[in-house]
Amino acid sequence: MKRRVGIYIHIPFCRKKCNYCDFLSFPLEETKPEETQSKTKKSAYLKALCEEIRQSHSRLKDCVADTVFIGGGTPSLLSGEEIEELFDELRSCIPLSEDAELSMEMNPGTARPDRLAAYRRAGINRVSVGLQSACDKELELLGRIHTFAQFEQTYAMLRESGFSNLNVDIMSALPFQSMETYAETLERVAALKPEHISAYSLIVEPGTPFYDRFAEGEGQNALPDEETDRRMYAYTTEYLKERGYHRYEISNYARDGFACRHNLKYWQMEEYIGFGLGSASYFGGKRYKNTEDFGTYLSAQGRDEKREETALAREEEMEEFMFLGLRTMRGVPKKAFYDRFGVQMCEVYGSVIDKYVQSGLLVSDSCLRLTDAGIDVSNTVMADFLLSVSV
Ligand code: SF4
Repeated sequence: MKRRVGIYIHIPFCRKKCNYCDFLSFPLEETKPEETQSKTKKSAYLKALCEEIRQSHSRLKDCVADTVFIGGGTPSLLSGEEIEELFDELRSCIPLSEDAELSMEMNPGTARPDRLAAYRRAGINRVSVGLQSACDKELELLGRIHTFAQFEQTYAMLRESGFSNLNVDIMSALPFQSMETYAETLERVAALKPEHISAYSLIVEPGTPFYDRFAEGEGQNALPDEETDRRMYAYTTEYLKERGYHRYEISNYARDGFACRHNLKYWQMEEYIGFGLGSASYFGGKRYKNTEDFGTYLSAQGRDEKREETALAREEEMEEFMFLGLRTMRGVPKKAFYDRFGVQMCEVYGSVIDKYVQSGLLVSDSCLRLTDAGIDVSNTVMADFLLSVSV
């Protein structure tokens, strides 16, 4: 039987850099004066990407991909033909299962009907739209390229084009955001009835304009305090539950049958292969990481020489298995732990489990999972799993 893997493809281009973003992405203007330069940069990247996919043919010969995720960046800056070519290349390298989930990230303001039709022809059957907020002032502060009205147009266009599996990304804990403006975002998004909603709390990352402005000193006062952040989180879970969305991961909510299968692979530590600048893979018990340097990535030799490869020690694999699995509401199945490592979970983590079960932060039955109180302090609980392995 073929080995089932997920595929991630990274498109690092955005129209402009958002003020909070520390993802591996950079601006690619589509406007006239730089059109030629942008096209050259984009086509050089796509050429290298296709080369990388082609070169992995022998490694993937016994595999079938049941999920593909095109992320970024803003993959919807690619034309319909470019996405179709990318999928042609992928299909000639690895078969895609009949029921494969083929996702793509999209930013409002970049969608066009002709492109959407081509994306569907290429096989895309799930689109994740980056909204972040329904409040135009917040969008402006975030440095997003769109308004809420433009998001609504994109959303309508996606539905008209036949996409029946949509995710919308929103964010809480933004500077100057109040419980009221956050609730309005949540309500306006839920009213559109997407199949999936991702609701992340903003983290002010070093190296971003937000960090200079809000990480220290008086700027910090603009951020909602911890208590408000928790209230926003609790409100999200409650509000969405009443509308038929179940929380299946700390920050992800879906209607029945619409959990993101690709992201579940990460959380359940299944195998995936990443293509593109800076992308990561987990395959055959090893982690791989591509170079983050654009120029290096463009040359086959540079790509190979700069790809990092790390074989995970058994202890590290156990830690990651726990750490990632605890993000899901199902938790970590004890049987899966035993099947994978040949040792009972309680033999490895007995004292940590006892400690957190007694303090009401974990539940332990056939699976080990966080309680609501545990989710509030999940980083602390998970850190104990990272540090406690002693087998
Ligand atoms: S669109 Fe996304 S990837 Fe691009 S700069 Fe904004 S947050 Fe970063």
